[in-house]
Amino acid sequence: MRGAGLTLARKRRELPPQSAWNVPPGGPSAAWFAEYSAGGLSNHWTGAVPRYAPSDFTEGEALGPEFRWPVSYADLEPHYARIEELLHIVGGGEDVPSMPAGHVSHKLHLPPDWQTIDGRARKQGRGVAVLPLSYMGGATASASGTPFNSYVRLLDGLPRTPRFEIRFRARVIRLEWSGEKRRVTRAIYVDDATGLEHAVEADHFVLAAGPLFSARILLESACNDFAQGLGNVEGVLGAYLHDHPYGKLELRTEQPLSIFPPLCVTRRALASSEPLRAAQAVLWSSTGARVKSWARLTFDRSSAIGFNFFGTHPPEKKHRLRLLPDEPDEKGRPGIALDFALDAPMVRTLEETRDELLGLIHESGFKSQTLVWEVVPAGTSFHYGGTVRMHAEPRFGMLDGFNRLHAVPNVRVVDASAFTTGPEKNPTLTAMALASRSAEELAASLRR
Ligand SMILES: Cc1cc2nc3c(=O)[nH]c(=O)nc-3n(C[C@H](O)[C@H](O)[C@H](O)COP(=O)(O)OP(=O)(O)OC[C@H]3O[C@@H](n4cnc5c(N)ncnc54)[C@H](O)[C@@H]3O)c2cc1C
Repeated sequence: MRGAGLTLARKRRELPPQSAWNVPPGGPSAAWFAEYSAGGLSNHWTGAVPRYAPSDFTEGEALGPEFRWPVSYADLEPHYARIEELLHIVGGGEDVPSMPAGHVSHKLHLPPDWQTIDGRARKQGRGVAVLPLSYMGGATASASGTPFNSYVRLLDGLPRTPRFEIRFRARVIRLEWSGEKRRVTRAIYVDDATGLEHAVEADHFVLAAGPLFSARILLESACNDFAQGLGNVEGVLGAYLHDHPYGKLELRTEQPLSIFPPLCVTRRALASSEPLRAAQAVLWSSTGARVKSWARLTFDRSSAIGFNFFGTHPPEKKHRLRLLPDEPDEKGRPGIALDFALDAPMVRTLEETRDELLGLIHESGFKSQTLVWEVVPAGTSFHYGGTVRMHAEPRFGMLDGFNRLHAVPNVRVVDASAFTTGPEKNPTLTAMALASRSAEELAASLRR
């Protein structure tokens, strides 16, 4: 329950620890988290929903054709707008370098101290933005542990019809390819309550199980015609796995700095960075910290400041999700391994951005002392992507520009597994915009 920009009451269950899934991580330090439930990870998320910038879809081209998205910002723009309406966003509502404004329902402004820092940041080609957050303005209540939960806010309210039904505890284990019809004809699922297998027949299939499970389902759908996994003719299924390298910084400032509204210092300018090597910094802001500041009579300002840094990096083919048939999970399905770990250039990008941010804060008149700097293991930012990648050329990606499998066009994958690269911004709004665009194309093709 939220009101006046504060969380007034909240009950949220803990994110299941990775170990509860009984599946070993593949790399030395790659972790992963998932929730097998209605709403998935949106039962736990923060709700930060920045748009990607136009350059986020093209920046990687400087490194080679492998990193070129098959969609542009202009393709996604109407879908960003459509999804933003659903997400009831609080934000600044103004373009900031590397972060387009988007459609906000509640507008907030930068406080004066951050306006000063923003002024200096602009000289470097970056900026300070009010972080767009879903359902964080005005008053709202939701029967879920987060203000926006994809099941509670979107699916639960839809009227059930003979053509629309939700089946709970239905664990999809494979999509079934018909060699004769040259398309997928059935989804096979296990009812977790009974352990029995069932099939759903359809003309089209839309897979949205998240960047780890969508790839896993396709790998498990291997058949005579696709021995390496459904649609995997070029060996790229599971490859190009990426995640945001994630650093946490805690500071003590001599004079208190504003901690509300939640803010984000955008990435360094394209002209002054290597392609796909940049990070954003998100200021910590919470109802608890605000209430403490009121008790100290500093009113939404604090000397205890923290930031989360999310970095981008060029996705590599060798970073991948693999099945472990000999190490089954608790349901007897093949386990998964993640061949992914942070490397020195990823950590360097975070450290450089940390130093640039500290420079901005100091030069703006706020002396500070660093209390904690920590780079956490890969996977802990919960922003995996890239395992069922979009690319115009099948040798570099599984999906076309409308999220259809190149080799099996009646199957679409519409989550962050589709990302060609992983820009430093939070991914969910862009995953939803891609899903919206793919759905629109599917509807049009069905009508035709
Ligand atoms: C603490 C936390 C904070 C976060 N904060 C942000 C943020 O501020 N901004 C942001 O953009 N992102 C954030 N994220 C990430 C965000 O939650 C995810 O990007 C988003 O939920 C992904 O949505 P998804 O539907 O693709 O996958 P998921 O949310 O993982 O949902 C996958 C769904 O598929 C279902 N499923 C899986 N396998 C099967 C199967 N075999 N059969 C049937 N169903 C299956 C699951 O039950 C689940 O419902 C955060 C995540 C966490 C944990």
